Amino acid sequence: MKKQGLRVIVVGAGIGGLTAAAQLLKRGFFVRVYEQASVLAEVGAGIQSSANAVKVLYDLGLKDELDVFAVRPQAFEYRRFDTAELMHRIPLGQAHEDAFGAPYFHLHRADLHELLAKTVRHMDPDCITLNAKAVSYEESDQGVTLKMVDGRLIEGDVLIGADGIKSAIRAQILGQTTVSYTGDVAWRGLIAVEKLPKDIMETVSTVWCGPKKHAVMYYLRAGALMNFVGLVEHDQPEEESWTQKRPWEELKRDYEGWHPMIQTVIDAMDKEACYRYALNNRPPVSNWSTQRATLLGDSAHPTLPYMASGAAMAIEDAAVIARCLEQSSSVTDALQLFQRNRIERTSKIVIGSTESRGLYRIEDLDAMKKAFADQDLTKSRAQWLYSYDPLHVPLV
Ligand SMILES: Cc1cc2nc3c(=O)[nH]c(=O)nc-3n(C[C@H](O)[C@H](O)[C@H](O)COP(=O)(O)OP(=O)(O)OC[C@H]3O[C@@H](n4cnc5c(N)ncnc54)[C@H](O)[C@@H]3O)c2cc1C
Repeated sequence: MKKQGLRVIVVGAGIGGLTAAAQLLKRGFFVRVYEQASVLAEVGAGIQSSANAVKVLYDLGLKDELDVFAVRPQAFEYRRFDTAELMHRIPLGQAHEDAFGAPYFHLHRADLHELLAKTVRHMDPDCITLNAKAVSYEESDQGVTLKMVDGRLIEGDVLIGADGIKSAIRAQILGQTTVSYTGDVAWRGLIAVEKLPKDIMETVSTVWCGPKKHAVMYYLRAGALMNFVGLVEHDQPEEESWTQKRPWEELKRDYEGWHPMIQTVIDAMDKEACYRYALNNRPPVSNWSTQRATLLGDSAHPTLPYMASGAAMAIEDAAVIARCLEQSSSVTDALQLFQRNRIERTSKIVIGSTESRGLYRIEDLDAMKKAFADQDLTKSRAQWLYSYDPLHVPLV
Protein backbone atom coordinates (compact mmCIF):
# COMPACT_ATOMS: atom_id res chain seq x y z
CA MET A 1 0.00 0.00 0.00
CA LYS A 2 1.18 3.55 -0.61
CA LYS A 3 2.53 4.66 2.75
CA GLN A 4 2.73 8.34 1.93
CA GLY A 5 -0.49 9.98 3.02
CA LEU A 6 -1.92 6.94 4.84
CA ARG A 7 -2.92 8.12 8.30
CA VAL A 8 -2.79 5.46 11.04
CA ILE A 9 -4.57 6.22 14.32
CA VAL A 10 -3.57 4.17 17.38
CA VAL A 11 -5.72 4.35 20.51
CA GLY A 12 -3.67 3.61 23.64
CA ALA A 13 0.00 4.18 24.45
CA GLY A 14 0.61 0.95 26.36
CA ILE A 15 3.34 -1.51 25.41
CA GLY A 16 1.25 -2.73 22.43
CA GLY A 17 0.27 0.69 21.06
CA LEU A 18 3.77 2.12 21.37
CA THR A 19 5.44 -0.88 19.75
CA ALA A 20 2.94 -0.68 16.90
CA ALA A 21 3.61 3.03 16.47
CA ALA A 22 7.37 2.43 16.39
CA GLN A 23 7.07 -0.45 13.88
CA LEU A 24 4.81 1.67 11.64
CA LEU A 25 6.98 4.79 11.87
CA LYS A 26 10.03 2.69 11.04
CA ARG A 27 8.27 1.62 7.84
CA GLY A 28 7.43 5.19 6.89
CA PHE A 29 3.75 5.45 7.87
CA PHE A 30 2.18 8.59 9.32
CA VAL A 31 1.08 7.62 12.85
CA ARG A 32 -0.81 9.35 15.65
CA VAL A 33 -1.24 7.74 19.09
CA TYR A 34 -4.00 8.94 21.46
CA GLU A 35 -3.62 8.09 25.15
CA GLN A 36 -6.20 8.84 27.84
CA ALA A 37 -3.64 9.32 30.64
CA SER A 38 -2.17 12.74 31.35
CA VAL A 39 1.35 11.31 31.77
CA LEU A 40 2.98 8.32 30.16
CA ALA A 41 3.65 5.80 32.89
CA GLU A 42 3.50 2.11 33.71
CA VAL A 43 2.99 0.30 36.97
CA GLY A 44 5.91 -1.01 39.01
CA ALA A 45 5.87 -4.64 38.03
CA GLY A 46 7.85 -7.16 36.08
CA ILE A 47 7.29 -8.50 32.64
CA GLN A 48 8.82 -11.59 31.06
CA SER A 49 9.75 -11.28 27.41
CA SER A 50 10.73 -14.29 25.34
CA ALA A 51 12.67 -14.41 22.05
CA ASN A 52 9.55 -14.04 19.89
CA ALA A 53 8.94 -10.58 21.40
CA VAL A 54 12.54 -9.53 21.97
CA LYS A 55 13.20 -9.91 18.21
CA VAL A 56 10.69 -7.11 17.55
CA LEU A 57 12.37 -4.85 20.13
CA TYR A 58 15.79 -5.57 18.62
CA ASP A 59 14.39 -4.73 15.19
CA LEU A 60 13.64 -1.26 16.57
CA GLY A 61 17.34 -0.85 17.41
CA LEU A 62 16.84 -1.24 21.17
CA LYS A 63 19.41 -3.96 21.90
CA ASP A 64 21.99 -1.75 23.62
CA GLU A 65 19.43 0.07 25.71
CA LEU A 66 17.70 -3.16 26.75
CA ASP A 67 21.07 -4.57 27.80
CA VAL A 68 21.35 -1.81 30.39
CA PHE A 69 18.35 -2.96 32.45
CA ALA A 70 17.18 -6.36 31.17
CA VAL A 71 17.85 -9.39 33.37
CA ARG A 72 18.66 -12.68 31.60
CA PRO A 73 17.34 -15.51 33.80
CA GLN A 74 19.21 -18.80 33.56
CA ALA A 75 16.17 -21.03 34.06
CA PHE A 76 12.61 -21.48 35.24
CA GLU A 77 12.76 -23.44 38.49
CA TYR A 78 9.58 -25.03 39.80
CA ARG A 79 9.87 -25.61 43.55
CA ARG A 80 7.70 -27.18 46.21
CA PHE A 81 6.04 -24.49 48.34
CA ASP A 82 7.20 -25.81 51.74
CA THR A 83 10.49 -27.67 51.28
CA ALA A 84 11.77 -25.80 48.18
CA GLU A 85 12.44 -29.17 46.53
CA LEU A 86 13.26 -28.58 42.86
CA MET A 87 10.60 -30.43 40.86
CA HIS A 88 11.31 -29.24 37.35
CA ARG A 89 13.83 -26.99 35.60
CA ILE A 90 13.66 -25.41 32.16
CA PRO A 91 16.92 -23.85 30.98
CA LEU A 92 16.71 -20.27 29.69
CA GLY A 93 19.82 -18.06 29.33
CA GLN A 94 22.08 -19.10 26.46
CA ALA A 95 19.96 -22.20 25.78
CA HIS A 96 16.93 -20.03 24.98
CA GLU A 97 18.96 -17.63 22.85
CA ASP A 98 20.63 -20.45 20.90
CA ALA A 99 17.33 -22.22 20.29
CA PHE A 100 15.18 -19.21 19.41
CA GLY A 101 17.54 -16.52 18.15
CA ALA A 102 17.05 -13.89 20.87
CA PRO A 103 17.29 -13.76 24.67
CA TYR A 104 14.65 -14.33 27.34
CA PHE A 105 14.38 -11.14 29.41
CA HIS A 106 12.93 -10.03 32.70
CA LEU A 107 12.05 -6.34 32.41
CA HIS A 108 10.54 -3.67 34.61
CA ARG A 109 7.35 -2.62 32.83
CA ALA A 110 8.11 1.06 33.36
CA ASP A 111 11.63 0.70 31.90
CA LEU A 112 10.32 -0.98 28.74
CA HIS A 113 7.44 1.46 28.40
CA GLU A 114 9.70 4.49 28.82
CA LEU A 115 12.14 3.12 26.24
CA LEU A 116 9.34 2.56 23.74
CA ALA A 117 7.91 6.05 24.30
CA LYS A 118 11.36 7.58 23.85
CA THR A 119 11.83 5.60 20.63
CA VAL A 120 8.49 6.73 19.20
CA ARG A 121 9.13 10.37 20.11
CA HIS A 122 12.58 10.21 18.61
CA MET A 123 11.05 9.05 15.30
CA ASP A 124 8.25 11.65 15.44
CA PRO A 125 8.10 14.15 18.34
CA ASP A 126 4.39 14.86 17.70
CA CYS A 127 3.26 11.25 17.47
CA ILE A 128 1.80 10.82 20.98
CA THR A 129 -1.09 12.93 22.29
CA LEU A 130 -1.89 12.65 26.00
CA ASN A 131 -5.16 13.53 27.77
CA ALA A 132 -6.94 12.03 24.78
CA LYS A 133 -9.64 9.54 25.71
CA ALA A 134 -11.36 7.90 22.76
CA VAL A 135 -15.01 6.95 23.04
CA SER A 136 -16.03 5.59 19.63
CA TYR A 137 -15.41 5.80 15.89
CA GLU A 138 -17.23 6.02 12.56
CA GLU A 139 -15.95 4.58 9.31
CA SER A 140 -16.77 4.80 5.63
CA ASP A 141 -15.15 3.93 2.29
CA GLN A 142 -13.24 7.22 2.55
CA GLY A 143 -11.78 6.97 6.06
CA VAL A 144 -12.29 6.64 9.80
CA THR A 145 -13.19 9.31 12.38
CA LEU A 146 -12.23 8.82 16.00
CA LYS A 147 -14.43 10.58 18.56
CA MET A 148 -12.81 11.80 21.75
CA VAL A 149 -14.53 12.32 25.10
CA ASP A 150 -14.01 16.10 24.85
CA GLY A 151 -15.76 16.22 21.46
CA ARG A 152 -12.65 16.33 19.28
CA LEU A 153 -12.84 14.40 16.01
CA ILE A 154 -9.67 12.80 14.61
CA GLU A 155 -9.60 11.85 10.94
CA GLY A 156 -7.56 8.93 9.64
CA ASP A 157 -7.46 6.03 7.21
CA VAL A 158 -7.03 3.15 9.61
CA LEU A 159 -7.73 2.75 13.33
CA ILE A 160 -5.89 0.41 15.69
CA GLY A 161 -7.52 -0.07 19.10
CA ALA A 162 -4.62 -0.85 21.45
CA ASP A 163 -6.63 0.28 24.45
CA GLY A 164 -6.33 -2.72 26.75
CA ILE A 165 -8.78 -5.04 28.47
CA LYS A 166 -11.47 -2.38 28.93
CA SER A 167 -11.17 -1.23 25.31
CA ALA A 168 -13.78 1.18 23.92
CA ILE A 169 -12.82 0.14 20.37
CA ARG A 170 -13.31 -3.55 21.20
CA ALA A 171 -16.75 -2.77 22.67
CA GLN A 172 -17.78 -1.11 19.41
CA ILE A 173 -16.36 -3.83 17.13
CA LEU A 174 -17.47 -6.85 19.16
CA GLY A 175 -20.28 -5.59 21.37
CA GLN A 176 -20.61 -7.27 24.76
CA THR A 177 -18.26 -10.26 25.17
CA THR A 178 -18.09 -12.84 27.96
CA VAL A 179 -16.11 -11.98 31.09
CA SER A 180 -15.94 -14.30 34.08
CA TYR A 181 -13.93 -14.25 37.29
CA THR A 182 -11.28 -17.02 37.35
CA GLY A 183 -11.35 -17.39 41.12
CA ASP A 184 -7.76 -16.09 41.30
CA VAL A 185 -6.26 -12.82 42.39
CA ALA A 186 -2.69 -11.74 41.64
CA TRP A 187 -0.59 -10.04 44.32
CA ARG A 188 2.30 -7.95 43.10
CA GLY A 189 5.14 -6.19 44.88
CA LEU A 190 8.71 -5.07 44.28
CA ILE A 191 11.56 -5.45 46.75
CA ALA A 192 14.89 -3.60 46.63
CA VAL A 193 17.56 -6.34 46.71
CA GLU A 194 19.57 -4.57 49.39
CA LYS A 195 16.68 -5.38 51.75
CA LEU A 196 17.17 -9.10 51.07
CA PRO A 197 19.94 -11.44 52.23
CA LYS A 198 22.79 -11.42 49.71
CA ASP A 199 22.37 -14.07 46.99
CA ILE A 200 18.97 -15.14 48.29
CA MET A 201 18.18 -16.52 44.85
CA GLU A 202 20.18 -17.23 41.72
CA THR A 203 19.29 -15.36 38.53
CA VAL A 204 16.35 -17.60 37.73
CA SER A 205 12.58 -17.38 37.70
CA THR A 206 11.38 -19.38 40.71
CA VAL A 207 7.83 -20.68 40.57
CA TRP A 208 6.68 -21.85 43.99
CA CYS A 209 3.91 -24.42 43.57
CA GLY A 210 1.45 -25.31 46.28
CA PRO A 211 -2.14 -25.96 47.25
CA LYS A 212 -4.60 -23.38 45.87
CA LYS A 213 -1.90 -20.84 45.10
CA HIS A 214 1.50 -20.31 43.61
CA ALA A 215 4.07 -17.52 43.56
CA VAL A 216 6.66 -16.33 41.08
CA MET A 217 9.87 -14.45 41.87
CA TYR A 218 12.45 -12.96 39.56
CA TYR A 219 14.92 -10.09 39.36
CA LEU A 220 14.40 -6.84 37.47
CA ARG A 221 16.30 -3.68 36.58
CA ALA A 222 19.78 -5.18 36.19
CA GLY A 223 19.22 -7.15 39.40
CA ALA A 224 18.40 -4.16 41.61
CA LEU A 225 14.82 -5.31 42.31
CA MET A 226 13.05 -8.56 43.06
CA ASN A 227 9.60 -8.95 41.50
CA PHE A 228 7.02 -10.94 43.48
CA VAL A 229 3.74 -12.16 41.98
CA GLY A 230 1.43 -14.25 44.12
CA LEU A 231 -1.50 -16.03 42.48
CA VAL A 232 -4.07 -17.07 45.02
CA GLU A 233 -7.56 -18.56 44.92
CA HIS A 234 -10.14 -16.20 46.39
CA ASP A 235 -13.91 -16.69 46.47
CA GLN A 236 -14.86 -13.08 45.99
CA PRO A 237 -14.36 -11.30 42.68
CA GLU A 238 -12.85 -7.86 43.15
CA GLU A 239 -11.53 -5.02 41.06
CA GLU A 240 -9.54 -5.77 37.91
CA SER A 241 -7.06 -3.01 38.47
CA TRP A 242 -3.27 -2.86 38.61
CA THR A 243 -3.41 -0.07 41.18
CA GLN A 244 -5.68 -1.57 43.83
CA LYS A 245 -3.77 -1.68 47.13
CA ARG A 246 -4.48 -4.36 49.74
CA PRO A 247 -3.16 -4.73 53.29
CA TRP A 248 0.24 -6.41 53.51
CA GLU A 249 -1.13 -8.53 56.39
CA GLU A 250 -3.52 -10.26 53.95
CA LEU A 251 -0.62 -11.18 51.68
CA LYS A 252 1.34 -12.49 54.66
CA ARG A 253 -1.66 -14.60 55.71
CA ASP A 254 -2.09 -15.99 52.19
CA TYR A 255 1.44 -17.45 52.29
CA GLU A 256 1.43 -18.65 55.90
CA GLY A 257 3.34 -21.94 56.20
CA TRP A 258 5.20 -21.48 52.91
CA HIS A 259 8.98 -21.73 52.63
CA PRO A 260 11.15 -19.34 54.72
CA MET A 261 12.52 -17.72 51.54
CA ILE A 262 9.01 -16.60 50.61
CA GLN A 263 8.53 -15.24 54.13
CA THR A 264 11.80 -13.30 53.82
CA VAL A 265 10.71 -11.74 50.53
CA ILE A 266 7.22 -10.85 51.79
CA ASP A 267 8.68 -9.42 55.02
CA ALA A 268 11.02 -7.15 53.01
CA MET A 269 8.21 -5.76 50.87
CA ASP A 270 7.08 -2.14 51.24
CA LYS A 271 3.94 -2.62 53.35
CA GLU A 272 2.26 0.37 51.71
CA ALA A 273 2.83 -0.95 48.19
CA CYS A 274 1.13 -4.35 48.03
CA TYR A 275 -1.27 -4.53 45.10
CA ARG A 276 -3.89 -7.12 44.22
CA TYR A 277 -5.56 -7.65 40.86
CA ALA A 278 -8.59 -9.85 40.10
CA LEU A 279 -7.96 -12.14 37.14
CA ASN A 280 -10.83 -12.47 34.68
CA ASN A 281 -11.28 -14.90 31.84
CA ARG A 282 -12.21 -13.65 28.38
CA PRO A 283 -12.48 -16.42 25.77
CA PRO A 284 -10.88 -15.82 22.36
CA VAL A 285 -13.00 -14.27 19.58
CA SER A 286 -12.99 -15.21 15.90
CA ASN A 287 -13.03 -11.73 14.37
CA TRP A 288 -11.68 -8.40 15.56
CA SER A 289 -11.55 -6.21 12.46
CA THR A 290 -13.95 -4.12 10.40
CA GLN A 291 -13.35 -2.31 7.12
CA ARG A 292 -10.97 0.23 8.70
CA ALA A 293 -10.66 -0.63 12.40
CA THR A 294 -8.86 -3.42 14.20
CA LEU A 295 -7.66 -4.42 17.66
CA LEU A 296 -4.18 -5.17 18.97
CA GLY A 297 -2.80 -6.56 22.23
CA ASP A 298 -5.09 -7.06 25.23
CA SER A 299 -8.05 -5.43 23.48
CA ALA A 300 -7.93 -8.20 20.83
CA HIS A 301 -6.91 -11.22 22.92
CA PRO A 302 -6.92 -10.51 26.66
CA THR A 303 -5.20 -13.38 28.43
CA LEU A 304 -4.38 -14.70 31.88
CA PRO A 305 -0.77 -14.37 33.02
CA TYR A 306 -0.04 -18.12 33.39
CA MET A 307 2.13 -18.29 30.26
CA ALA A 308 3.56 -14.77 30.75
CA SER A 309 2.74 -13.93 27.14
CA GLY A 310 0.15 -11.12 27.03
CA ALA A 311 2.59 -8.33 26.32
CA ALA A 312 4.64 -10.61 24.07
CA MET A 313 1.52 -11.15 21.93
CA ALA A 314 0.93 -7.38 21.79
CA ILE A 315 4.53 -6.88 20.64
CA GLU A 316 4.15 -9.62 18.01
CA ASP A 317 0.89 -8.01 16.80
CA ALA A 318 2.71 -4.71 16.38
CA ALA A 319 5.21 -6.16 13.92
CA VAL A 320 2.58 -8.15 12.04
CA ILE A 321 0.10 -5.26 11.60
CA ALA A 322 2.91 -3.05 10.26
CA ARG A 323 3.93 -5.75 7.77
CA CYS A 324 0.28 -6.30 6.73
CA LEU A 325 -0.29 -2.59 6.08
CA GLU A 326 2.96 -2.44 4.13
CA GLN A 327 2.24 -5.34 1.83
CA SER A 328 -1.55 -5.11 1.21
CA SER A 329 -3.26 -3.20 -1.56
CA SER A 330 -6.04 -1.81 0.67
CA VAL A 331 -6.68 -1.11 4.37
CA THR A 332 -9.46 -3.70 4.50
CA ASP A 333 -7.23 -6.37 2.96
CA ALA A 334 -4.46 -5.49 5.43
CA LEU A 335 -6.77 -5.83 8.43
CA GLN A 336 -8.11 -9.15 7.21
CA LEU A 337 -4.57 -10.40 6.58
CA PHE A 338 -3.61 -9.28 10.08
CA GLN A 339 -6.38 -11.11 11.89
CA ARG A 340 -6.17 -14.17 9.64
CA ASN A 341 -2.53 -14.53 10.63
CA ARG A 342 -2.95 -13.75 14.31
CA ILE A 343 -6.18 -15.30 15.55
CA GLU A 344 -5.09 -18.95 15.62
CA ARG A 345 -1.83 -18.32 17.45
CA THR A 346 -3.21 -15.83 19.96
CA SER A 347 -6.25 -18.05 20.68
CA LYS A 348 -3.92 -20.96 21.38
CA ILE A 349 -1.97 -18.82 23.86
CA VAL A 350 -5.15 -17.52 25.55
CA ILE A 351 -6.54 -21.06 25.94
CA GLY A 352 -3.13 -22.45 26.93
CA SER A 353 -2.78 -19.75 29.60
CA THR A 354 -6.15 -20.61 31.09
CA GLU A 355 -5.28 -24.30 31.12
CA SER A 356 -1.81 -23.72 32.62
CA ARG A 357 -3.29 -22.40 35.87
CA GLY A 358 -3.84 -25.91 37.24
CA LEU A 359 -0.29 -26.98 36.52
CA TYR A 360 1.06 -25.05 39.49
CA ARG A 361 -1.67 -26.02 41.93
CA ILE A 362 -1.45 -29.74 42.42
CA GLU A 363 -1.75 -30.78 46.05
CA ASP A 364 -0.12 -34.17 45.67
CA LEU A 365 3.62 -34.04 45.02
CA ASP A 366 3.85 -37.18 42.89
CA ALA A 367 0.95 -36.01 40.74
CA MET A 368 2.63 -32.64 40.37
CA LYS A 369 5.91 -34.16 39.21
CA LYS A 370 4.06 -36.35 36.74
CA ALA A 371 2.13 -33.37 35.40
CA PHE A 372 5.35 -31.48 34.77
CA ALA A 373 6.89 -34.49 33.04
CA ASP A 374 3.78 -35.09 30.92
CA GLN A 375 3.57 -31.48 29.92
CA ASP A 376 7.23 -31.61 28.86
CA LEU A 377 7.28 -27.85 28.89
CA THR A 378 10.85 -27.68 27.65
CA LYS A 379 10.05 -29.18 24.29
CA SER A 380 6.37 -28.77 23.56
CA ARG A 381 5.50 -25.28 24.75
CA ALA A 382 8.84 -23.74 24.01
CA GLN A 383 8.93 -24.79 20.40
CA TRP A 384 5.67 -23.36 19.17
CA LEU A 385 5.57 -20.43 21.56
CA TYR A 386 9.09 -19.09 21.34
CA SER A 387 10.16 -20.04 17.81
CA TYR A 388 7.58 -17.75 16.17
CA ASP A 389 9.23 -14.84 14.36
CA PRO A 390 6.71 -12.00 13.82
CA LEU A 391 9.12 -10.19 11.51
CA HIS A 392 9.54 -13.07 9.06
CA VAL A 393 6.65 -15.50 9.50
CA PRO A 394 4.94 -15.85 6.09
CA LEU A 395 1.68 -13.87 5.96
CA VAL A 396 -0.96 -15.76 4.05
C1 LIG B 1 -0.42 -10.22 36.94
C2 LIG B 1 -0.03 -10.09 35.49
C3 LIG B 1 1.26 -10.44 35.09
C4 LIG B 1 1.62 -10.36 33.71
N1 LIG B 1 2.88 -10.74 33.34
C5 LIG B 1 3.21 -10.73 32.02
C6 LIG B 1 4.49 -11.17 31.58
O1 LIG B 1 5.34 -11.55 32.38
N2 LIG B 1 4.76 -11.17 30.23
C7 LIG B 1 3.85 -10.74 29.30
O2 LIG B 1 4.15 -10.78 28.09
N3 LIG B 1 2.63 -10.29 29.70
C8 LIG B 1 2.29 -10.28 31.01
N4 LIG B 1 1.06 -9.83 31.40
C9 LIG B 1 0.13 -9.33 30.39
C10 LIG B 1 0.48 -7.90 29.98
O3 LIG B 1 0.51 -7.09 31.12
C11 LIG B 1 -0.56 -7.34 28.98
O4 LIG B 1 -0.86 -8.33 28.02
C12 LIG B 1 -0.03 -6.10 28.27
O5 LIG B 1 0.20 -5.05 29.19
C13 LIG B 1 -0.99 -5.62 27.20
O6 LIG B 1 -0.55 -4.42 26.62
P1 LIG B 1 -1.53 -3.48 25.78
O7 LIG B 1 -0.69 -2.38 25.25
O8 LIG B 1 -2.33 -4.31 24.86
O9 LIG B 1 -2.58 -2.94 26.85
P2 LIG B 1 -2.34 -1.97 28.09
O10 LIG B 1 -1.00 -2.17 28.69
O11 LIG B 1 -3.53 -2.16 28.97
O12 LIG B 1 -2.39 -0.50 27.46
C14 LIG B 1 -3.59 0.10 27.04
C15 LIG B 1 -3.39 1.62 27.01
O13 LIG B 1 -4.56 2.21 26.44
C16 LIG B 1 -4.95 3.30 27.22
N5 LIG B 1 -6.41 3.48 27.02
C17 LIG B 1 -7.40 2.68 27.46
N6 LIG B 1 -8.59 3.12 27.06
C18 LIG B 1 -8.36 4.24 26.33
C19 LIG B 1 -9.20 5.15 25.62
N7 LIG B 1 -10.53 4.99 25.60
N8 LIG B 1 -8.64 6.20 24.97
C20 LIG B 1 -7.28 6.38 24.98
N9 LIG B 1 -6.43 5.54 25.65
C21 LIG B 1 -6.96 4.49 26.29
C22 LIG B 1 -4.56 2.93 28.63
O14 LIG B 1 -4.45 4.06 29.48
C23 LIG B 1 -3.22 2.23 28.40
O15 LIG B 1 -2.15 3.15 28.36
C24 LIG B 1 0.68 -9.88 32.76
C25 LIG B 1 -0.60 -9.50 33.17
C26 LIG B 1 -0.96 -9.61 34.52
C27 LIG B 1 -2.35 -9.21 34.95
